[in-house]
Amino acid sequence: MNYQPVMGLEIHCELLTNSKVFCTCKNEFGGGANTRVCPRCSGMPGTLPLLNKGAVRLAAKAGFATNCTVNNYSAFDRKNYFYPDLPKAYQITQFESPICTDGYIDVTGGKRIRINRIHIEEDAGKLVHDDYEGISMADYNRCGVPLIEIVTEPDFRTIEEVQDFVIQIGQRLNYAGVCDAKMEQGSLRVDVNISLMPYGSDEFGTRAEIKNLNSVKSIGRAIAYEIQRQSEILDKGGKVLQETRRYNENHDDTKAMRSKEEAHDYRYFPEPDIPPVLFTDEEIDIIRREMPELPNQRFERYTKQYKIPEEDAKLILAEKAFSDFYDEAVNITPEYKLISNLMLGEISHQINETGTGITEVKFSPADVAKVAELAAKGTISKGSAKDIIAILFAEGGEPEAIAKKNGFIMSNDTSGLDAIIDEVLTANADAVEKYKAGNAKLFGFIMGQAIKACGKGANPGLIKQTLSEKLK
Ligand code: ADP
Ligand code: MG
Ligand code: ZN
Repeated sequence: MNYQPVMGLEIHCELLTNSKVFCTCKNEFGGGANTRVCPRCSGMPGTLPLLNKGAVRLAAKAGFATNCTVNNYSAFDRKNYFYPDLPKAYQITQFESPICTDGYIDVTGGKRIRINRIHIEEDAGKLVHDDYEGISMADYNRCGVPLIEIVTEPDFRTIEEVQDFVIQIGQRLNYAGVCDAKMEQGSLRVDVNISLMPYGSDEFGTRAEIKNLNSVKSIGRAIAYEIQRQSEILDKGGKVLQETRRYNENHDDTKAMRSKEEAHDYRYFPEPDIPPVLFTDEEIDIIRREMPELPNQRFERYTKQYKIPEEDAKLILAEKAFSDFYDEAVNITPEYKLISNLMLGEISHQINETGTGITEVKFSPADVAKVAELAAKGTISKGSAKDIIAILFAEGGEPEAIAKKNGFIMSNDTSGLDAIIDEVLTANADAVEKYKAGNAKLFGFIMGQAIKACGKGANPGLIKQTLSEKLK
C-alpha cells in the first residue's frame, strides 16, 4: 500500500561567534584534541556559565531570517542526561521559553512550512572510537560551542520540500552571518522525524527520528529508505516504534540507536546560574535593522527586476560571495543578463576547472562590468567577451587593453570587408552555386568561412549584411 509521508525537522546550527557560549574558549573547527577547553566548558564543579551576548544576537538574527517572532523574554533550562561527551551531565538549553517562535519559510511549490521555535543551546563534545586499540577517547573542544536548534511543525509531505527547506535555511543563515552552514563539517546538522499515514487520513502515525544527516543527498536517501521500511511494517499490520535511528551512508539504510526519550526523562528545570534574556522592543529593532538582504529577497530582485531566469538566479545565489560579485558588477553596468551569462558561463567554467574561488580571482567586478559594457556597445563580439574573461582569469589585466592587444575591437568599416568577402565567395564557388540553387543551409557555412577570413576584429553583423547582399 502507498502511504502519505509526514515529516518534521530539527536542525542544529553552529553559531559564528568568536568564543564559546558560556566561556571565553575559542569557537573554531578542527585543531588538536582538547586544545580549546577550560574549567567552565569541561564542566568542573563550582564554575559558573557566562552567557555570550554575541550568540544571543545571532540567534535573534536566525529568527528574523525565518519570519519568527523574537521574544522579549527567554530563559535557559538544564536538560539532564549522562553521556561521556557531556562532562557536566546536563546540557544548558532553552525549553519553556525559547528566544524565537512562530516562523515560516515557503518552499518549492509555494507550500508554507511553519517553524515552531528556535532555541539556543550548547553543543556536546565528541567521542573518537579506536576499534584497533579497543578504546574510546573524549575530545571536549566542541563542548560549549553555541548552537541554535530550529524545530519545524510536521508540515513536510515530500522529500523535495524537505531538501529545499534545508538548502534555504543554510543559505539564509549564511547570508545573515549566523552560521557558515557547512553540512559536511557538521556546522549544520539535520534530524528528520518521519511517520506514515494512509492517504486521506488526518491522524499522524508514530514517527522515527533519523539523527544527524550531513548532506542534502543523504537526507533524500534516508527518507526514501524510511518510507520503504515503515511501509513494509504497516503493510504487515505491525507498529512503527518511536525511536531514534542513524542513517549509514555506506549501507544506505537506517539502524535503531535507542528508543525515543520523552521530555520528562530529562528532568528539565530552570538553569539557576543564568538570568533570563530580556529584550526591549527597541533592542529587538536594533538587531532587526542589522539584517542584510537575504537570498530570498535577492531572488526576487534578480527574477522580477533584472528578469534573470529562475534557474540562473538560483545558481548565482548558491554562494554569497558569488552573488556579491554579481551585485557589484551590475551596480557599475546594469547589463543584468550579459553579466549573468558571463558569470555562469566562462567564469564558472574557469572556477570549476581551476578550483579557484570567486574571492581569489585576478579581476574585479568592475572588470567584468567593463567586458559586458564593451560587448553591449558592439565594440567586441560576445565570443571575444568570453575570450577576455579567460585571459583575465589566467593573467589579469585591463579589459579594453586586452581587447586592443588581441585584435578583438570590431571594425565597423566596410571598405576592407568587401574585398575579403569577394575572395571567400570565389574560393567557395561551389557552395555559393548550390546556395543560389536553393540550398539555404549553406549560408551558415559561407558565413563561417567569411568570419574566419575577416578575423576576430570584424563585426559579425556587418559581415552578415554584406554577405546577404552579395548572395542575393
Ligand atoms: P520531541 O520534543 O519529543 O522531539 P516534538 O513534538 O517537539 O517532539 O517534535 C519533534 C519533531 O518531530 C518536530 O520537528 C515535529 O514536527 C516532528 N513530528 C512530531 N510528530 C510527528 C509525526 N507524527 N510525524 C512526523 N514528524 C513529527
Ligand atoms: Mg526533539
Ligand atoms: Zn571553555
